[in-house]
Parts: sequence; structure tokens; C-alpha cells
Amino acid sequence: MARVALVTGGTRGIGAAICVALKEQGRTVVANFAGNEKAAAAFHEETGLRVEQFDVGKLQECERAVQRITEEVGPIEVLVNNAGITRDGTLQRMSRDMWDAVIDTNLGACFNLCKLTFPGMRERKFGRIVNVGSINGQAGQYGQVNYAAAKSGIHGFTKALAQEGARFGITVNAIAPGYVDTDMVRAVPHDVLEKIVARIPVGRLGHASDIARGVAFLTADEAEFITGSTLSINGGQHMY
Ligand code: NDP
Repeated sequence: MARVALVTGGTRGIGAAICVALKEQGRTVVANFAGNEKAAAAFHEETGLRVEQFDVGKLQECERAVQRITEEVGPIEVLVNNAGITRDGTLQRMSRDMWDAVIDTNLGACFNLCKLTFPGMRERKFGRIVNVGSINGQAGQYGQVNYAAAKSGIHGFTKALAQEGARFGITVNAIAPGYVDTDMVRAVPHDVLEKIVARIPVGRLGHASDIARGVAFLTADEAEFITGSTLSINGGQHMY
């Protein structure tokens, strides 16, 4: 039986590429999204994959979704915490709401979904978890104290949970993407983006498929000896 993979934020951008890569790897993939129904419908039409709408930052919504997926598709054995948002602004201009939204969606979601899927993985003695961090969680970024805190939190969360999962065949790893050509990065002003690309040794933005390749590698059944690691995929922009 194919293992069930849940990819949060899986209907657009990096998440959509991850879903396709995991499907090609033979997983039964479920793609989560927040509210963009049009993008989710187009993704479903194109890939045939099941889509599930729920807010990863809300524990109760996650509980209902995990229960539904487990009953209707099967136990989740591969979890990719990819959903993320930005609410940028210098600390001086950042409201508490901007802080909370980014922490809840990027970091709180990892707690919610790992908490809900970990017991089943432990029972079956198999699990693959990948949390999507960021180069900006490693290096910091002007105007992103919320995002950098959430993403570097993900890197610490990953190392701690890896230690808890190791005895049970559960690996927990993180990926730290550099700048990838998705809607999130298209929102960055053109002149700022040009300066960013000039600092990437490989000379281009990343493609979503560059990140998906790393996720497929880390979630393979054979990757059982890789845990607690952070894989940087950033064109050489930050060597950490
Ligand atoms: P996009 O903005 O293109 O897509 C974000 C996805 O996350 C969408 O599917 C969106 O759903 C979903 N999402 C957002 N909030 C929630 C929520 N509360 N509950 C459920 N789903 C949610 O992002 P990217 O593909 O660019 O980024 C993917 C991940 O990679 C993020 O964690 C991001 O921080 C990280 N990253 C991205 C980089 C980049 O350069 N793009 C660089 C480094 C890290 P919907 O479609 O419904 O809005």
C-alpha cells in the first residue's frame, strides 16, 4: 500500500512541486491549502490529487483534517510542513497581529501537525517529517523579525523532535530554501529582487522543483539514517 503524504500549502508554489515529486515517488498525496479555492481547484484538475482546506495554524481545524484524512485515505506517514506566510515590516512598524499570524502559521503549524501525526507514526514505527524553514531563518532579514524567528524556530524544533522520533523509525529534517520563484517572492519589489539575484552565486532564483527534489530525497523510505539535519537549497547564497 502506498504511504500517505500530507503536504501543507500544497496547491501552489513550492508545495505544489513537492506534491508532484512525492506522487512520482509513489506516495498517495493530499495537498492542503488555506483559502485560495481557485488555485486549489486548478491544482486538483491538473494533478488529480486530493485537496483539503484547513488553517494549519488552528489546532482544532488540524485535528478534524487529520481525522478525516486518516479515515478516508489512510494514516499519514509522510508529513511536509510547507505552508508559510510573510507579514513584513520593521519591528517599529510591526503589529502584534503581524507577529502572531506569522508565528502561528509558520511555526505553530509544525507543532499542530506533528503533534497529531506523531503518535500514529510511533505505533507503526515509520515516519518522515520535513519542515520547510528558510534562508532568512538562518541568516536573518531586514523587516522580517517575525518570519526569521518562526523559521529559525523551525530549525530548532526539527532537531529536538528528531531526537524524540529516532527510536521509532521517524526522521525529522528541515529544508532551508533560498529565494524561489513563487508568488511569495514575486511580491518582492523588482529592484530589490534584482539585488537579491545578484547575490546568488548560481545566478538565478530557485525553481520550486529544486526544493521538491530535496523533500523527495529526505522522505524516501531509504533515508532512514538522515535525521535532525537542515538541507540548504539556495544556489550558494548562504553557506551555513
Ligand atoms: P506561496 O505563497 O506560493 O504558497 C503558500 C501556500 O501555503 C499556499 O498553498 C497557501 O494556501 C498555503 N497557506 C498559507 N497559509 C496557510 C494556512 N494558514 N493554512 C494552510 N495553508 C496555508 O509560498 P511558497 O511556495 O513561496 O513558500 C512555501 C514555503 O517555503 C513557505 O513556508 C515559505 O516560507 C518557504 N520559503 C519560500 C521561499 C521562497 O523564496 N518562495 C524562500 C524560503 C522559504 P492558499 O493557496 O489557499 O493561499
